[in-house]
Formats: sequence, structure tokens, C-alpha cells
Amino acid sequence: MTGAIPQMDPGAGYRAQRAAIDAAVARALSSGWYILGQEVASFEREFAVASGIPHAIGVASGTDALILALKGLGIGPGDRVATVSHTAVATVAAVVLAGAEPVLIDIDPVRYTLDPDSLAAAMDGVRAVIPVHLYGCPADMDAICRIARQHGAFVVEDCAQAHGATFDGRPVGTFGDAAAFSFYPTKNLGALGDGGAVAAGDAALAERLRILREYGWRERYVSDVEGMNSRLDELQAAILRVRLPALAAANARRAAIAEAYVEGLADTGLVLPTTRPGHVWHQFVIRHPARDALRQALKAQGVGTGIHYPVPVHLQPAYAGRIAIGPTGLAATEAAAREVLSLPMFPELDDEAVARVIAAVRQAA
Ligand SMILES: *Cc1c(COP(=O)(O)O)cnc(C)c1O
Repeated sequence: MTGAIPQMDPGAGYRAQRAAIDAAVARALSSGWYILGQEVASFEREFAVASGIPHAIGVASGTDALILALKGLGIGPGDRVATVSHTAVATVAAVVLAGAEPVLIDIDPVRYTLDPDSLAAAMDGVRAVIPVHLYGCPADMDAICRIARQHGAFVVEDCAQAHGATFDGRPVGTFGDAAAFSFYPTKNLGALGDGGAVAAGDAALAERLRILREYGWRERYVSDVEGMNSRLDELQAAILRVRLPALAAANARRAAIAEAYVEGLADTGLVLPTTRPGHVWHQFVIRHPARDALRQALKAQGVGTGIHYPVPVHLQPAYAGRIAIGPTGLAATEAAAREVLSLPMFPELDDEAVARVIAAVRQAA
């Protein structure tokens, strides 16, 4: 790879499977059926099998998957939902869009996922918990599920960054009552447009979700319940059917890149990611007190980086002062937002580019 190295490159993912994706697109376009047809039905089955989840329901985005999971479980106005502030804004936006009240909880400062002790202290009146498997690192599902169960709360896993991840050898998305996946183009399993899926633990919830995603229809043109329109389309499903069989190899390549980074940066004094087995490396996140200067120095050397995320949700203009914060506060969240930096991470990043990133970080740090 010559020239600047991007932090993410969804176009490279397309080019790597161009012929198969183009053929799948042509097949979907020629079928004459564009919404909720064979491609979506087949993808839902294939994705469920590959992910070890009982039922998958294709929807329009990861955000909608979270909203529908909450609605499907009967969570809405008057209900408190505990989740993190160190996440994509979508996690918290979905709670608000479902009509419920978020309670934001601090993170484990080294793994960046929901901190069980802080969660336990905040469970008063909480009806659902949304752990986020951030950066592809599984959250501590043992402790989180135990705490939720003790309080009779549902668990909805945010798996938007964690396709293929496992905790204790078991796939994420199978621990909670429901789970949400996103197929945004840069995710580990990405469409070439918007898409998402809800994983449902039981058939009754799966049935409710299918009804909710299309106007509340049980029977065409007759709304049984108040639903919405959030459908995965045939074109994206056809593309995802090409990409799904390549997911395991893509995740393995991400892990190899992460291993090379860890080895190449071990003696730099930088804070490197603390891993858990089953991590799928959606992002490789380092920490530095002078993060912005480091980022500029890398940019000058042609290395793109990202910040996931620069502003915790509770400090964003749309939400600041309007969202409950757990009793233990958000100190680890605010510290992480100041210091995290995501290095280039995508399966098509070749060894030479990885070596260039390592050399640039070593020089800059
Ligand atoms: C991407 C993402 C979402 C939202 O997915 P969209 O498909 O963009 O709506 C939700 N949660 C997390 C953690 C994400 O990374």
C-alpha cells in the first residue's frame, strides 16, 4: 500500500469481493422483488446459523435494531434502561427513540466496556441493560447477566461492532434476551448501504419483531399493533450473503494485525488494548495523554487515525443535562474520551502498511 493509509476502507472490502458482489447485486435487481423477499429470508437464516443465534430479523439499521429489540420486549415510556456513555451515540439515541429513559453507567477503564460494579449500583428501577461489545471486545457478560437477572431486567446486547465475537467461547448475541447488529459499511460485517439485524432468543419475540418492523402487520394491510417501517432490503441482503462467508477470515486478519501492533508497539510506553479472548478487533485503540498531538504527528506521516469517541453521549449538546447518570459517575468514560486513538484497522490492510503504521507510531510516540 503506497500513499496515505486510511483508518478504515470499506471500498477495499468491496474490491476484494467485487465479482461475487456484482453478481449478487445483478441477481437481486433482476429478480423484480426488492423488499422482504428470498434474499432477506436466506440471509436471516444464514446469519442466524453463522452467529449461533436462534432467530435473526433483518432491519434497516443497527439503531433500528436496538429500538425494535426494546419495543419487542415491551420497553417504552416510563422505563429506565442502563447503558454506557462511551459508545456510538446510536446506543443511547435508540433508548430515547423507544421512549425510554437512559441511565448512563461508567466503563471498565481498561476494556472500555460496561463496568459491572457501577451497573450494580445503578439498578434501581432499571428494566433493561444494554451492554456494548465496544471495539469488538466482548463485555463481561457473566457479571452483567447476573446483575440484570437479580433485578428482573432484560439484557439487550449491542453487537454492532462485534460480529463473530465470543465470551467464554459462546457467541455474543446469545447471552441477552435480544441483540442488535449493524451492517453499516465499516462494521466487521458490512453492507454497501445501511442495514441491521435483531437477534431474538425465542420464537415469540422473533414473531413480534417481524410484525413491528413492518407497520405492525400480522396480515398485509392490517396493523395489529403500532409498528414502524424498518426493513433490510433485498439488495443489501444479497451483498451480505456474499460477505458473511468471508467474515471469519476477515476477523482472523484483524486479529493478526492486532497481534502485529501489540508486538511492534510493546516497548513504546503507549497504553495498548487489554484484550479478552473472543475479541474481533473492530478497532485497535491505544491511549495517550497527548492524544491530539500524536494524531497530528501520524497524519503528517500519512497514517489515518480515528477517535471512538471524542465526546461521551452525556456531554453531547442533544443530551447534556437531560440524561440520568449512575451513582458512581462517569470518570473513566470522560478520561477515555480525552485519550483514545484508533489506529488503521481493516482486513485489507497489508503487512507492509501495518509495518508503516508501527514505524510511524514509534517515531511519533
Ligand atoms: C454503528 C453502531 C450502532 C448503530 O448502527 P447503525 O447501523 O449506524 O444505525 C449502534 N451501536 C454501536 C456500538 C455502533 O457502533
